[in-house]
Amino acid sequence: MNRSQFSAFVGLGGNSGPVAETFVRACAALDAMPGIHVTQMSGVLETRPVSVDHDCTSLQPAYVNAVARLETTLAPLELLDALQAVELQFGRIRRERWGARTLDLDLLFFGGQILDLPRLTLPHPAAWYRRFVLDPLVEIAPNAIHPVKLVTIRELQSRLLHQPAKICFAGGDPALTQSAIHALRLEFPAILFEPWAPGGEATFIVWLGEASDPEFSRLPLVPRVQPYGPASDPVGFARVLVASAAL
Ligand code: ATP
Ligand code: CA
Ligand code: CA
Repeated sequence: MNRSQFSAFVGLGGNSGPVAETFVRACAALDAMPGIHVTQMSGVLETRPVSVDHDCTSLQPAYVNAVARLETTLAPLELLDALQAVELQFGRIRRERWGARTLDLDLLFFGGQILDLPRLTLPHPAAWYRRFVLDPLVEIAPNAIHPVKLVTIRELQSRLLHQPAKICFAGGDPALTQSAIHALRLEFPAILFEPWAPGGEATFIVWLGEASDPEFSRLPLVPRVQPYGPASDPVGFARVLVASAAL
């Protein structure tokens, strides 16, 4: 059977051990697998860690990131299996999410495919606003179109550089939203925090309503974001967003 070939992008991360060397060895291990050819790797980038515990960021070593491009005849879940096998091979121990680790391999994009399975979301839901993903990606695929946001990687990166950044909230309980905005203004004085007003402009519109609410789909496509991951409170999610986007 002839299988189609797709271009995929993998985000590499780590903050423990000789990370840059681990990246090279991990790419070689992937390239040696049937159905995977690693064709490009970005330079490595060092960033402040995104820690679960906001006050403990300084206790963690800097995070190192890169992005690799590969051509594959595997299906998306088969490629995820391959990435997880390589993570294990390089000593990844699954402890807390976003904790110290030797190697994290995220499947950022798989062709233009959009998937939402329990084990695999495509594109990776945070790829479009993480500077440690977008900066290396711009080196190797600036003109690739994000299949959900429908703009280029370069555009996604450059919009994060506009000052002052503005984070709006929509869909939540107005009283809770106001108190979150109040706390965030004190914590991040250089960033504007406001309730979302239709017709306005925002770096991000954080949706605090139900995931299924059709109101979410009426928000502008590029800035809207639904919190995911461990932070389900608006303040916690905003902190992750500010750090991820390096605002
Ligand atoms: P983040 O995904 O926010 O970068 P993380 O990389 O720390 O967080 P992990 O603990 O590595 O998260 O992965 C948690 C689970 O995410 C994995 O078991 C995997 O099945 C799932 N997952 C869903 N979508 C993807 C994807 N696009 N790439 C990698 N893993 C994914
Ligand atoms: Ca990750
Ligand atoms: Ca991961």
